[in-house]
Amino acid sequence: ARRSDTKLRRLPARLVSGEDIELLANVELPTELPQLKRAGAAGIGLLRTEFLFAETEGDFPDELAQAALYKRFIKAMGGASTTIRVLDWGGEKGHDQMARLGLGQASHSDNPALGLRGLRLLLRHPHLLETQLAAILRAGATGPVRVLLPMVTSSDEIMRGRDIYERTARKLRRRGVTIADPLPPLGVMIETPAAALTADIMARRADFLALGTNDLTMYTLAVDRALADVASLYAPLHPAVLRLIASAASAALQIHRPVSVCGEIAADPRAVALLIGLGLRSFSMSASALPRVKRMVRSLTLDACDRLARQALAETDPARVRALVRDFKPTAA
Ligand code: PEP
Ligand code: MG
Repeated sequence: ARRSDTKLRRLPARLVSGEDIELLANVELPTELPQLKRAGAAGIGLLRTEFLFAETEGDFPDELAQAALYKRFIKAMGGASTTIRVLDWGGEKGHDQMARLGLGQASHSDNPALGLRGLRLLLRHPHLLETQLAAILRAGATGPVRVLLPMVTSSDEIMRGRDIYERTARKLRRRGVTIADPLPPLGVMIETPAAALTADIMARRADFLALGTNDLTMYTLAVDRALADVASLYAPLHPAVLRLIASAASAALQIHRPVSVCGEIAADPRAVALLIGLGLRSFSMSASALPRVKRMVRSLTLDACDRLARQALAETDPARVRALVRDFKPTAA
């Protein structure tokens, strides 16, 4: 790490105009923890659990084995919050494990992104969700955690997920297991157009929202995020995506639900300026991007962000939004 990064780590993520911004890290494996500390992350905004078990041979890790793993992250964060997302298998992730456990047909589907994926898969196989939630609840007795549900498309899925969450907590308590009281917050990913368009309803049923712009971009623009053929059409700053982000963010803010952005867009410092202009104050990104985003944040005024957001929302052409963001001058002249 650069020497200036060491100094930067101790400085607050605060705009020139005084507003505090929360910069969190996206994490997949425990081996990333040292880098995350060096980057000065204020917490883990997204722990993608599907990668934790990718190398596991034999049986899928049981409740206690999973709890031990989650505790490692919580302990490393030393009091800062860890947001643990339950398995987001299906789509482009976890096909080997799914096949091994005999779950679904996703690996044979031509279009797995539209198949049994994320929360849908977990609700179809509730034992998998119960085991993971029980493990998270056990680990959550040792430090602050939040639970995140992936790939939500309707509010009844949240209610079904919450039922299982509360039932799992009751079972643990009956067995004399210590868990946090009140229960850790249960939030949802807003990463489908359906969820973004109904974010006001989602926000009432969830304790917090996490905007997943990677999938939101894919589903909104009908562009596969992993397909080289259409990579040039994959545009997280497309006006359609921006409008969905803007409306989802304002739905959450209106009823004071915490909302963060955890897609790759949060690793782009100038895009973060735009998102601040849309009212967002919390961002989760890969640890390697955190120092440069922090440097940008510390050079911004809220006025400059607001102006950028207003201009971007008025654009109709994705290339023009991209140019606006590219040419953006952080500090108001
Ligand atoms: C997203 O979709 O933006 C997201 C953060 O989740 P993932 O990249 O793991 O699908
Ligand atoms: Mg996603």
